[in-house]
Amino acid sequence: MELTRWPGIGPKTARRLAIYLWQQPAGVTKKIGDLLQNYQAQISICRQCYNLAEGETCAVCADTSRDRNKLCVVEGPLDIEAIERTEAYRGLYHVLGGVLSPMEGVEEDQLRLRELFQRVQDRPDMEEVILALNTSLESEITARYIRQRLKPMNMKVTRLGRGLPTGGDIEFADEITLMAAFDGRRTYN
Ligand SMILES: [Zn+2]
Repeated sequence: MELTRWPGIGPKTARRLAIYLWQQPAGVTKKIGDLLQNYQAQISICRQCYNLAEGETCAVCADTSRDRNKLCVVEGPLDIEAIERTEAYRGLYHVLGGVLSPMEGVEEDQLRLRELFQRVQDRPDMEEVILALNTSLESEITARYIRQRLKPMNMKVTRLGRGLPTGGDIEFADEITLMAAFDGRRTYN
């Protein structure tokens, strides 16, 4: 069933939702369908950082008051939302769209890695690349790979400080923990 592929929805919840939808009058399900369709039509991907956007660039990239010399690398758009809530960071972002996973067959060209390296290369005045990845094994492998590739470019690479729970995702971290992790970021070499 399509619903079981949704994030955070197990088979039981999917079944409950399916029954609920089935019980609704036809007008309601059509309305939900239209809403979803409009939502998809309105949301696009930012051409600069690959965050979700309503237009060509996302709200962060469009904000001229942001510090353009700092780039924070995240796995997905929800991580940006979590970091923005802390107000601890005023630079730009780069969304990878996942992490390298040999087990699941996720390779470099399925992520925005090449775009990341190009972005850094195009900006010799960039001061810092912050790796704000999760703490899973795949995230670790991805962080190491990025560090290795950025090394010849003489780029300062930092990682968030300790405090994030092992296996914990940034998108679910509370603001205080995330803020502390940002403030305590350390050079990664
Ligand atoms: Zn953007």
